Amino acid sequence: MQDIQQFANEIGLDLDLLACIQCGKCSGGCPVSITTALNIRFLVYESLLDALPELVHMEELWDCTCCFTCVERCPKDVRPAELIITLRNQLVESGKIPGTIGEALMGIFRQGNPLGLAREDRALWAEGLDVKPAREGCDTLLFTCCYSAYDVQSQPATKALVRILHAAGVDLGYLGTEETCCGNEVKRVGEKAMFDEMLVEEGKALLESVGARCIVTTSPHCYNTFKNEYGLEGIEVLHYTQVLARLLEEGQLKLSVPVEKTVTYHDPCFLGKQNKVFDEPRAVLRAIPGLNFVEMDRIRERSLCCEGGGGRMWFEGTNTEDRLAFQRVQEAVDTGAEVLAVACPFCLAMLADAAKVKGLEEQLKVMDISELVVQALGDGG
Ligand code: SF4
Ligand code: SF4
Repeated sequence: MQDIQQFANEIGLDLDLLACIQCGKCSGGCPVSITTALNIRFLVYESLLDALPELVHMEELWDCTCCFTCVERCPKDVRPAELIITLRNQLVESGKIPGTIGEALMGIFRQGNPLGLAREDRALWAEGLDVKPAREGCDTLLFTCCYSAYDVQSQPATKALVRILHAAGVDLGYLGTEETCCGNEVKRVGEKAMFDEMLVEEGKALLESVGARCIVTTSPHCYNTFKNEYGLEGIEVLHYTQVLARLLEEGQLKLSVPVEKTVTYHDPCFLGKQNKVFDEPRAVLRAIPGLNFVEMDRIRERSLCCEGGGGRMWFEGTNTEDRLAFQRVQEAVDTGAEVLAVACPFCLAMLADAAKVKGLEEQLKVMDISELVVQALGDGG
């Protein structure tokens, strides 16, 4: 046992594996255990059998989506997903990294985004929207995820959010081409040095330099890392659904145009399971006049993962035939919903693609919540 603990200390494994009682609640809840060979309970078990140094060679380490279901369910607070992130860190440090993940990291290093697109194009989505530069001074800083800024599928949601916040009278600013990837997935693929020494250090200084009272993020991933890992001082960090729910409650945002659609909602792991933001997205959807909100069976803590987190968006590997997103879009169709609402650019990409591949596009449209809210704005929206 001494050797395991020593090795764990050497690789910076900050968790008490010995507390594991092998109850299997982690692997029982792990969404990818049904589609891959990853077994998180075995992984913890093997690591207790002096096998920890060998585990860093396991290909399955890349199958984890960092959804944290295992962390949520573990009765002994072992935090098993962090074992995976730490083992990935060993892989990254020894240069054993899947090609597409390496490309995404290089894109962030060179251009500030995992798509490797030009930094000077980061603000093109905002053309014609009259959103002011944060440097002019603003109460609320809008932070757009790399996908919200560059991905043509996500851009309508980003634009809609700006229109909604303007309609509610929010004093909004944005960073434009100064904005850089938040690094939430960088940390989770194991690139700890890039996360700590480059993205957090520079990002924290940038975000604090604006002087905004609040940061609103388009993505639960940026929200998670800014709120829990950046150590931002004196700045409130909110996901946009929290901001919209608050604006609705305070009467600053008024929705008057009926949106006659049956809509269900998919909880993003980084918003729901990891940060317990379950109610606000639902409150926003329920506030849209004419909208018929229905729930799927697996919701909130039991929600299914879309498989876009933990660097999976950048991974081209196994598990293309039996994706969790396929199950999820079918679950949405089974409710009778015509719209599957999401609150995350990764969920939008994964689930919209799944609907397309499964031939469900005619029946089910995958839309960000802000795209529905913008339809309900009356004059001035
Ligand atoms: S849920 Fe926790 S205690 Fe149970 S097997 Fe998994 S790591 Fe061990
Ligand atoms: S974080 Fe999610 S995908 Fe990864 S091992 Fe835990 S339950 Fe499985």
